[in-house]
Amino acid sequence: MALDDCIFCKIAAGQIPSRKVYEDDTVLAFEDVNPQAKVHVLVVPKTHYTDILDISRRGIDDLGAMMRGVGEVVRAKGLEKNGFRLVNNCGSDGCQSVKHVHIHVLGGEQLSEKMS
Ligand code: AMP
Repeated sequence: MALDDCIFCKIAAGQIPSRKVYEDDTVLAFEDVNPQAKVHVLVVPKTHYTDILDISRRGIDDLGAMMRGVGEVVRAKGLEKNGFRLVNNCGSDGCQSVKHVHIHVLGGEQLSEKMS
């Protein structure tokens, strides 16, 4: 189900343009508009889930599909050899700004040791 006021639902539906990296029936991956590393791609389920807790409770198959999408992005961006970082921000302490679950795939350069 898509939410009318959710930007990632609109991107997943093709109503807002994005720079697509990977797509299948369940998942879309696209370039982050404000990249924090040389490679910064967002992987989102096409179905709306608020956050990682929501999808882990009622969409475990879609969560698995997101991880398959992560693998596709990693291969598409050539990140297997040198590695990468996955980030999921959840809720206010986690500074989640878009309330549609997404995984950040960051890489293409040496990343900071600091994670917080
Ligand atoms: P978070 O803070 O974890 O919720 O991450 C949300 C991410 O979405 C941020 O890195 C934003 O730069 C990114 N973002 C917001 N709007 C768009 C958009 N229209 N296209 C691509 N990335 C976006």
